[in-house]
Amino acid sequence: MPSQKQTSKENSNKIQTLYKKIKKERTLVLLKPDAVERGLIGEIISRFEKCGLKIIGLGLVKPNRKLMDKHYPKTKEWIENLGNNFFRTCEENNLKIDVKKEFNVNNAYELGLLVRSWLIDYMCSGPIVKIAIEGPHAVEIVRKIVGHTLPYKAQPGTIRGDFSIDTPILANLEKRAIKNLIHASGSKEEAEYEINLWFTKDELIDYN
Ligand code: ATP
Ligand code: MG
Repeated sequence: MPSQKQTSKENSNKIQTLYKKIKKERTLVLLKPDAVERGLIGEIISRFEKCGLKIIGLGLVKPNRKLMDKHYPKTKEWIENLGNNFFRTCEENNLKIDVKKEFNVNNAYELGLLVRSWLIDYMCSGPIVKIAIEGPHAVEIVRKIVGHTLPYKAQPGTIRGDFSIDTPILANLEKRAIKNLIHASGSKEEAEYEINLWFTKDELIDYN
């Protein structure tokens, strides 16, 4: 049986690990080309700073297609979902598009691949800013500050709500990605993958 001293040491180690895990949750934010072009870098970064989150990595990047291809998921589910978003938007707007005729695609997956390529075109159309952010519940808090994916649905007070008005129906009609200023990791797992993709260990600064 472990001694009382041993048990309390184990407990204190557990608490230390948990404490570090909570305080050091990380997330990735990318300021997309429309945010940079519109001179919103400072405004957007200041919102993350003001709420108390810590910036631990920052850089201006001109991404290439290879990097963006690694960034966006390749799972069948994610790609099909992009295609279905397109169909849903058309349905909601009573718009009938013959996707076979218009885009030479046969199903939601193939359409999703096309939309994914529009996303990559958009992300490669100009410089972007990569930001690694740290703090308790960083993933959830950043998503809350950023607001709804679709700018026209984003609440005032969120970044997308205050600075963008794009809508998926216009994006679909113009055969382009929706301009929503920011990417923010959707989960802790996504954040870990994305931070490792966009930053080297040396580029992430640990400070108090
Ligand atoms: P991001 O990953 O860029 O932070 P998100 O997590 O809010 O955005 P995702 O579901 O990951 O949204 O979608 C990735 C991107 O696909 C979005 O940023 C947007 O450009 C595009 N997208 C998502 N939903 C739609 C939609 N309904 N119509 C058009 N484009 C969409
Ligand atoms: Mg996402």
